[in-house]
Parts: sequence; C-alpha cells; structure tokens
Amino acid sequence: MRVLGIETSCDETGVALYDTDAGLLADALYSQVALHAEFGGVVPELASRDHTRKLLPLVDQVLADAQLAKQDLDAIAYTAGPGLVGALMVGACTAHGMARALDIPVLGVHHMEGHLLAPMLEETAPAFPFVALLVSGGHTQLVDVRGLGDYRLLGESVDDAAGEAFDKVAKMLELPYPGGPQVAALAERGRSERFRFPRPMTDRPGLDFSFSGLKTHTLTTLRQLHEQDAFDDQAQADVARAFEDAVVDTLIIKCRRALKESGRTRLVVAGGVSANRRLRETLDIALTKLGARAFYPRGRFCTDNGAMIAYAGAQRLIAGQHSQTLQPRPRWPLAELTPPGC
Ligand code: ATP
Ligand code: MG
Ligand code: FE
Repeated sequence: MRVLGIETSCDETGVALYDTDAGLLADALYSQVALHAEFGGVVPELASRDHTRKLLPLVDQVLADAQLAKQDLDAIAYTAGPGLVGALMVGACTAHGMARALDIPVLGVHHMEGHLLAPMLEETAPAFPFVALLVSGGHTQLVDVRGLGDYRLLGESVDDAAGEAFDKVAKMLELPYPGGPQVAALAERGRSERFRFPRPMTDRPGLDFSFSGLKTHTLTTLRQLHEQDAFDDQAQADVARAFEDAVVDTLIIKCRRALKESGRTRLVVAGGVSANRRLRETLDIALTKLGARAFYPRGRFCTDNGAMIAYAGAQRLIAGQHSQTLQPRPRWPLAELTPPGC
C-alpha cells in the first residue's frame, strides 16, 4: 500500500510517500523558520498561509521524486492534531480533498504518534514493547508503549517542554530562533565545571518533569554575570553548557527510572530534542550500564516531517482504519488513542 503523508501542525510543511512493502519512497520538507524568525516564534496566521502556499508543490515534488502519479496512491494520512488549528486545517482539507477526488481512504494521524514511531523508519527498528521519551517543542512525556495505539502515560512535564526551555534559554542568550540547535552548538564550547544547574524533580519519586525553574535559574545566572560585568563569549558558552547538562541529566535520570519500573529494555527517544548530540551520547552510555538500548530517528526525522506521518498512517490504514471526519484536533492527548480496530 502506498501512503502519502502530510504534516502541517506547526511551522514545517512535510510530505512523504511510504510503501508498506518497499519502505520510504520519497520525502520533502519546507521549513518556515525564516518567516517566523523576525517575530522570535511561530505566528499562527502566517504559518497557515505558508502551508497553503507550499503544500501542493511539495506533494508534486514527492510524487516526481518517486516517479509516481497521484493515481498510484492507495491512501492519504495527515496530521489531525495536536497543533495550531489553522495550520492543521490546511493539511486536513488538502488530504480529504485529494482522497475524495482519487476515491481512496484518508486518515487523520496523531502528531506525537508520528514522532513516537519515527525510529521504526530506521534499519534497526525497535520492537514493541518499549518505553518512549517524547521530547519536542510542545511535549516532554514518558510513555509505556505496548503496541501500536496502546499507550500509557508514565510522566510528563508539569510546565515547559524541554524543547520550549531550550528555545527560551536561546532567547536569553540572544541566539536566533529556533534556539535548541543554537544552544547545543554554543554548549560545545562551554565548560561543564563552571556552573552546576539544578536537576529539577529528580530528588523525589515519580516520572514527571519540570523545566520552568531551570529556565529561571539560567536567567538569574545571566543577570549575576552582567551585574559582575563578567558576561563574555566564554561565560555565554558556559551557561549554555550548564543548561544543556542539566536538561540531559534530568531526562536520563527519569528514563532510567522508567525502564527500571516498567521492566522494559528498549527506549525510543523522539521529537526535536532527540537530535541533541550530548543527550544521545550520554544516554547510550547510561543505558548500556542498565542492559538496555536506545533507538532514535535519523537527524532530519527528529523534528517535524512528513515521513513519520506517512509511516504512522500506513500502520493504521493497513489495519483497515480510516477517518470519519475532517475535524482537526488542536488538543488531543496521546493516551486517548486506541489500537486500530478498537
Ligand atoms: P510538538 O511535536 O510537541 O508538537 P514541535 O513539533 O514544535 O512540538 P519538534 O519539531 O518535534 O517540536 O521539535 C522542535 C524542538 O526541538 C524545538 O524546541 C527545538 O529547539 C528543539 N531542538 C531541535 N534540535 C535540537 C537540539 N539539537 N538540541 C536541543 N533541542 C533541539
Ligand atoms: Mg517546528
Ligand atoms: Fe513535532
């Protein structure tokens, strides 16, 4: 079955073509980063307009790359939520319109289920069951995954998502939007011994996270440096390093705890922050000691993309599921999902 995947939940227009026999045939991405950069964050109305402009050309591009025609498609999957309502609407209407015209099934996919299944596009795909750490711009969650659509929330951030904290700290450090990769690059030059930032909520039981205090701690440190006239390039890098170390450590402490408590030996790490090099390196070492193993998406499938939506949709579509309604779901808890057919 050849499934076209469409992702428009935020500021990336992603399109891909996944074949349930042959695997990923083509994928294309248009990032709106430059459009939103001058505002320091995503402007929803501009995002919707840009998706409208870019989506159909990307569909054509993906079909051309795979040397296929629209008539060769067997189904269409699109991100139905969570995300920005206007942005989701562009993907939903396009998907339903195309599916109507071609008389093929269409399915609305959960954006975080897409992130969660993205490592399955890799050569060494994780087998069910596993624990998933979803770390992105809007989510920080630990989920016990027993199978497709069988998700139990183990813990989540009570305030900011890890990616959101990276982006806000980037602003404090006067780095351009989107800040996560910029903070990570700056941290490479930072020294870990200069500052030690707190590891929030690790000294008590449970699997929830909190990153807002860490953000405030970063701001306070920066203010003190400015007051002491000690803020320079090295200090900036040292603060980035201390922040990154604290986030990475905190995530790893909770992952280890989740694996121990659930008895799982596989950990999936997905979402934008899973691209972070220091997180991957430190986590791999920590898990080896536990006799467990981590699975990640390839770099460009950590952040939003069409491939993860085509893949997640394909898994549900081959099980016979398709959408009844076109209604996007801007808010949609992952744990509400059920396995196909349930
Ligand atoms: P959600 O998936 O929760 O709806 P989103 O789609 O906006 O949110 P993603 O596209 O998955 O989020 O990820 C974007 C986030 O990942 C941003 O916050 C960005 O700063 C962060 N990020 C990307 N690369 C890195 C990196 N190397 N280190 C740290 N953070 C990163
Ligand atoms: Mg994005
Ligand atoms: Fe995302």
